[in-house]
Amino acid sequence: MATIKISKNNLYYNLNQLALKTGDKRKIAAVLKDNAYGHGIELMAKLLKEYGLTEAVVINNQEAEKIKNYFENILILNDTPTKKAKFSYAITSLEQLKNTPKGVKIELKIDTGMHRNGILIEQLNEAINIIKKCGLNLFGVFTHYANADELGSELAWQQENFKRVKEQILNAGLKPRFHSFNSAALLRSSSFSEDIARVGIAMYGFNELPKIYNILELKPIMSLWAKRVSTRELKKGQKVGYGGDFIAPKNMTISTYDVGYGDGLFRGNSKKPLITTQNLPILGRVSMDFISLEYTKDEICIFNNAQIVAKHFNTISYEITTSLKENLKREIV
Ligand SMILES: *Cc1c(COP(=O)(O)O)cnc(C)c1O
Repeated sequence: MATIKISKNNLYYNLNQLALKTGDKRKIAAVLKDNAYGHGIELMAKLLKEYGLTEAVVINNQEAEKIKNYFENILILNDTPTKKAKFSYAITSLEQLKNTPKGVKIELKIDTGMHRNGILIEQLNEAINIIKKCGLNLFGVFTHYANADELGSELAWQQENFKRVKEQILNAGLKPRFHSFNSAALLRSSSFSEDIARVGIAMYGFNELPKIYNILELKPIMSLWAKRVSTRELKKGQKVGYGGDFIAPKNMTISTYDVGYGDGLFRGNSKKPLITTQNLPILGRVSMDFISLEYTKDEICIFNNAQIVAKHFNTISYEITTSLKENLKREIV
């Protein structure tokens, strides 16, 4: 069975780097949504608790339940609120706010310019009135940046808007925690002063910022491995796999390994094959559960840097790791 290996050393290295930015490791809120970007949510929660993190962010109640014993608070981005003391809920519209029962820890999401979801700045006064009138528990106020990983002035505009949001909330006598930084915003900033930073991709070891911002070195923590299923001798001219896209240019010894697009490894285009960590091109098409390589060892590392794979498939590291299926074996190394 294919295995995802998670490097504890690299994870702690990345967290040490990020803690230099936040000034305190307890200010790093680990974003563990979507099975921890494919890394394995429970395994990651265990490692993060051991490191000393206390805050996490997930997408729904189901994810939060899985890791509730590892953190002091878990922010749930998109689900129906329950009154679990350890969970706080993102509230992204006035409609949702009006339907929130008393006693739930809420974190108001403000749309400062991304225009995906969140309460508009023009609606903030009304939101404050509802919170006060209904006696709601405002635990946090936050926003999300659309362009933190790109050059340009958009980020500064959104930050300026969020500054005004903070003033308005504080002037209304409310004292929630405030947060806006994701990985990219944290990596490019030199002055962090908020209560937490919501860090996803940087913790996993990737930096999608343009090169000029590459100040922090991060190390990918995930590698994908597959096991040998069988080996055969291929005569010059024989073909391999569906459609016979690979034709042996010489006599060669090849093996089949047990990973495929059913596991979340992209199939792509066999005319331009993915190259594994040891510089071996995948021979012919990726099948649902198997690939072929000119190799005979019992185990092979398919990749140890998802960003290289992402470049190959013209996407971002997030999509490569998040696509890996939940049923794959995951282990700490
Ligand atoms: C996913 C997400 C993050 C983390 O983003 P990274 O770029 O992975 O650091 C932070 N905040 C919110 C609201 C998110 O949805």
